[in-house]
Amino acid sequence: MNPSRALVLFSGGQDSATCLAWALSRFDHVETLAFDYGQRHAVELQVRPALLERMRTLLPGAVATLGEDHLIALPLMADMSETALTADVEIALRADGLPNTFVPGRNLLFLTVAAMLAYRRGLDVLVGGMCETDYSGYPDCRDDTIKTLNNALNLGMATSLRIDTPLMKLDKAATWKLAHDLGGQALVDLIRSGTHTCYLGERGELHAWGYGCGVCPACELRARGYEQYLASTAQP
Ligand code: ZN
Repeated sequence: MNPSRALVLFSGGQDSATCLAWALSRFDHVETLAFDYGQRHAVELQVRPALLERMRTLLPGAVATLGEDHLIALPLMADMSETALTADVEIALRADGLPNTFVPGRNLLFLTVAAMLAYRRGLDVLVGGMCETDYSGYPDCRDDTIKTLNNALNLGMATSLRIDTPLMKLDKAATWKLAHDLGGQALVDLIRSGTHTCYLGERGELHAWGYGCGVCPACELRARGYEQYLASTAQP
């Protein structure tokens, strides 16, 4: 049987917006999910509705394919962790080399909750933007982690759910290119101006690569990737 119903972890950032476009291009029915976990960059939750609406009109077939949007609150994340993503702490590298934006187990929890929702909604595939190419050292973004969790979820829930991670082997430049392949310049422009990636929630100035403070790790990665993408598409 060919799975045709997907649930996209759609936070409102560049990666998850690209994943959503990817999912809309290949599944019959696509639902979306975001988590409210006390993130400092809660602005990403605010940009989602407009982004979803634009995606619906921009991508062919999306009106029929794009289904319900879900928002699940996970306040326990902020209760349990004191990291730079959820508390007012300066972003820095920790002694073990991981950035202090690392929320231990975040993607494991997100995917487990997503699997529970998919079970209830009768959805066969989870789509997530995890990426091990420039993954900031987050161990829960590794391909091995996701595959192993996929097995554990199916064993533990007696399901045949599949976790798709279309960005796993892509760098940020390739992610921009994928957006272009999926929706042309219009989708690139929408992702540029309509998504949010900055860890600090800064949305004052629109740079070439989008909104953000320009100096946090997420902004740096996004800006560098966009420059590389532009360089790769420049005419000789
Ligand atoms: Zn930033």
